[in-house]
Amino acid sequence: MTDYVITPPPTISVPVAGAGAAAFPVRRVFCVGRNYAAHAREMGGDPNREPPFFFTKPADALVTGGADIPYPTATANLHHEMELVVAIGTGGADIPAEAALSHVFGYAAGLDLTRRDLQDEAKAARRPWDMAKGFDASAPVGEIAPASAIGHPAAGRIALTVNGTVKQEGDLLDQIWAVPEIIAALSRLVRLAPGDLIFTGTPDGVGALVKGDVLHGEIAGVGQVTTRIL
Ligand code: MN
Repeated sequence: MTDYVITPPPTISVPVAGAGAAAFPVRRVFCVGRNYAAHAREMGGDPNREPPFFFTKPADALVTGGADIPYPTATANLHHEMELVVAIGTGGADIPAEAALSHVFGYAAGLDLTRRDLQDEAKAARRPWDMAKGFDASAPVGEIAPASAIGHPAAGRIALTVNGTVKQEGDLLDQIWAVPEIIAALSRLVRLAPGDLIFTGTPDGVGALVKGDVLHGEIAGVGQVTTRIL
């Protein structure tokens, strides 16, 4: 038993649908950039030439249970990105795409909240995205639905409303890189481990949020995510 010089940080976890009090413990949070062609175009990219790339958020950026979140500091352009989240149940390196789904515990609906102004500055200055993407409360996520209950959804409507108005709407079929390919690509860069989450990119329609906005995201056959900006 190791002694610590300060109180160890708590284990971050996400509730699991149908699992009662048993939650999914989170290790790391990876995110895919530009994984829907229409969103790649709206951000000025070329969806045909870009292999998947990744960035990260700290695990304690996650917000669960539909909790309210504060409008973050240091931005005047907070954007919503509605995403399918993959929860890794068993780890591995160099996972072939054909075997990738056997590493998935389940799926959730999540939001990759983004300080778009800071991201634009970082891109222009060729600096890292961390403070644009990995700020406190930047990753609201709904309950994880176990793959043992819902299977592995490769198609289905993914949509986000803000104050009841549809802002983002797409289909998982529109992903440039499907979940098995994402897991294969990411596991060539890092050894995936149980507890890792992967946010798999957003459809087009991203836009700015203001205080008071109520967000409700849904992915057919997977689940929902809800939050309010205070
Ligand atoms: Mn994103």
